[in-house]
Amino acid sequence: MLSIDPNAELLDFCEPLTHAAMTEYLAILADRYGILTVSTLAQSILSRSIPLLRLGTGDKSILYVGAHHGSEWLTSVLLLRFVNDLCSCHAANKPSEGLLLSYLLSTRSIYILPMLNPDGVDLSINGAEDSLLRERQIRQNGGSTDFTHWQANARGVDLNHNYNVGFLSYKKWERENAITAGRTRYSGECPESEPESAALAALIRTLSPTLVLTLHTQGEEIYYGKREGSASHKLAEQLSRLSGYRTARAEGPAAYGGLTDWLSDELDIPACTLECGIGENPLPLSDYPAIYAGLRRALFIAPTLL
Ligand SMILES: [Zn+2]
Repeated sequence: MLSIDPNAELLDFCEPLTHAAMTEYLAILADRYGILTVSTLAQSILSRSIPLLRLGTGDKSILYVGAHHGSEWLTSVLLLRFVNDLCSCHAANKPSEGLLLSYLLSTRSIYILPMLNPDGVDLSINGAEDSLLRERQIRQNGGSTDFTHWQANARGVDLNHNYNVGFLSYKKWERENAITAGRTRYSGECPESEPESAALAALIRTLSPTLVLTLHTQGEEIYYGKREGSASHKLAEQLSRLSGYRTARAEGPAAYGGLTDWLSDELDIPACTLECGIGENPLPLSDYPAIYAGLRRALFIAPTLL
């Protein structure tokens, strides 16, 4: 069991971030910083709570989302580190990245979903040994008990192909390529068929956010949907200058059913996907300090860009 020194200056991540470890970190952060509110967005398929964090009371809503994909749990680490930094700088009354945080948080409400797919994260980190869906998951994983590369949720739906954009075209492509429920790329029976994606879509309809950033790994790229010149494209260019990542337009089946594409191309909400770090998923925990250092400025400044 993880044990964290509640007096530690900085969160110190020593192991891949399971749902239980994240929950423990969040309890410490919420206890330490009064400005942080932690609630539950929804329950996953296997009844893990999906935490929703809020910082600030402003009218403009900003939303950051991590870990759509199980093997990309490093994005949850990055977002917890960001929350910790924001809270500790605010508490010390210190500007960060040139921003006066009390002003930022009085004009914006920053919502953070650090781990949208907790079942997928735990499956990738711990395997299916304790899973209620163990037999089915091993079948869906081609008979293998190695779930390291698992991206989908507990029942084999890839949450980032489960939104209502290009869904029918994707279904055709899925049939042609014999994609079924499993580790990656299966889009589900219909858009928002999964409790995780449905809850996020409902949150977005309620908040009408000013901008949404979704963190994935890897590639050091920023996707903005399909439309050149859109608000998302301009946002991607600004984030590119802040991070050094290059912008990339979504193309082909990869663009169907994705959150950023749904927001940007269907709802006209400025949105970008940050493909954090570079290497092979799952990126090792040891990559996180350098990735965070490279993205810190973009994460802090993004809420002020719109
Ligand atoms: Zn991903």
